[in-house]
Amino acid sequence: MPADLHPDDLTHVVRNALETTRATMVCPFHDDVIIRVGDDAAEGHAFERAKRIPKSDGSTWGGQALRDEIRRQLGAATDGRCPKCDAAPDPRA
Ligand SMILES: [Zn+2]
Repeated sequence: MPADLHPDDLTHVVRNALETTRATMVCPFHDDVIIRVGDDAAEGHAFERAKRIPKSDGSTWGGQALRDEIRRQLGAATDGRCPKCDAAPDPRA
């Protein structure tokens, strides 16, 4: 498990699972923008991964809580492209 993972924080667990399974990625130029890049299979993998991450007390997150949080984060993510990069043709300028 990555050292920077906070297993008792549902938001963080789900975000980590989505990123490590390539269901989502953070824009390389805007680290507040999460982009939905994976397909249904990647999102399914994220769910399976998150389900296996134990909390500090040894229990795991329930399937329904994970499903709801994954849906919430995917709903909040932007689809395929970063809108900030689209607005600024050269984000490094
Ligand atoms: Zn961007």
